[in-house]
Amino acid sequence: MTVTERFLKYVSFDTSSDEESETTPSTAKQKILGEYLAKELCEMGVENAHMDSDGYVYGFIPASKGLENEPRIGFIAHMDTSPAVSGENVRPKIVKYEGGDIPLSETVSIKLSDYPILADYLGEELIVTDGNTLLGADDKAGIAEIFSAVEYIINNPDVKHGPIAIAITPDEEIGRGADKFDIEKFSAAWGYTIDGGELGEIEYENFNGASVRLTVNGINIHPGSAKNKMKNAALLLSEFISMLPESETPAHTEGYEGFYHVCDISGNESKAVVNIIIRDHDREKFENRKKFIENLVSYLNGVYGEGTFVLDMADSYYNMKEKILPHMHIIDSAKEAMEKNGVTPKVVAIRGGTDGARLSFMGLPCPNLSTGGINFHSIHEFIPVKSMEKMTEVIIILMCKD
Ligand SMILES: [Zn+2]
Repeated sequence: MTVTERFLKYVSFDTSSDEESETTPSTAKQKILGEYLAKELCEMGVENAHMDSDGYVYGFIPASKGLENEPRIGFIAHMDTSPAVSGENVRPKIVKYEGGDIPLSETVSIKLSDYPILADYLGEELIVTDGNTLLGADDKAGIAEIFSAVEYIINNPDVKHGPIAIAITPDEEIGRGADKFDIEKFSAAWGYTIDGGELGEIEYENFNGASVRLTVNGINIHPGSAKNKMKNAALLLSEFISMLPESETPAHTEGYEGFYHVCDISGNESKAVVNIIIRDHDREKFENRKKFIENLVSYLNGVYGEGTFVLDMADSYYNMKEKILPHMHIIDSAKEAMEKNGVTPKVVAIRGGTDGARLSFMGLPCPNLSTGGINFHSIHEFIPVKSMEKMTEVIIILMCKD
């Protein structure tokens, strides 16, 4: 099977995850694809290929003779798609890009003016949607590329390689892909998630993240007789929010600039609550941002009375860079593998978190590589066929010992 055939098969499975669900996987339908993938690995001759009760698919390829002591390298992708856009009844089309806009349906098109990146793919075959759903290249392209590389390795016994481990996780899109990942079973020295965007991307820096929940306790009295007595929680909360640095929000930052993001507020005179997330690539600046929030709260409690502002702040995840830096050969190998294939590596900092970051802190250094897909989580999502083929070759080189 070609990587494109594989990909088209996988996107026919609806595997949206669901943030509201408390089960693992969050949606039972993910296991239907999981079972299919485990069977496919089995049929290729991958050892111990199976899906566990949480929907994680694992498989192992023993080393070529004489290379048993080489480090085991892991390759990871995720089977779920973002719940933000429907993944039901995906009807992909392959179009040859001749320039201009790409019509997806009578009313929807991928506009060159919105996505000037299209110009880079002139003359190439692109897989697009019918304008009603996402495509699911995030991350079924990652699975198709890894599986096609595995097939090549198994069908070409002359190609020398060390031990290889494969894992396909559920629920990455809702931040739970690492939750039940069995690091011990996987037992790799390092890994790559194949879950990035444009061909050539290498990511090993992500945000440090913390979440803040601030509760304001007010005192409510009939507004007619409230003078010098009412403590309006809604107004106190807005005072707190007005003290956050105006330019340090997601709408005013990019690259390595961190931010405070007010996600939602609710409340009345008696009680008001705000949820905020803090993000920064730099650990020291991240700690300073948390300190800033603590200082604001203690200042305001000084003014309005202890217990008026109640702060609940917790770290969500950390920048994986500190776990990758001692093993930069992982990044160098990825760059080399890309260059050998005429792909220009481009190191980009993720303005978010990744499962790879969490795995890195669980003991499996795990940067993220491109799939070749573009416009993830959108009806405008597409992937160039050639990019998938190139990434398959990149993965083969990473698996091999030359
Ligand atoms: Zn993804």
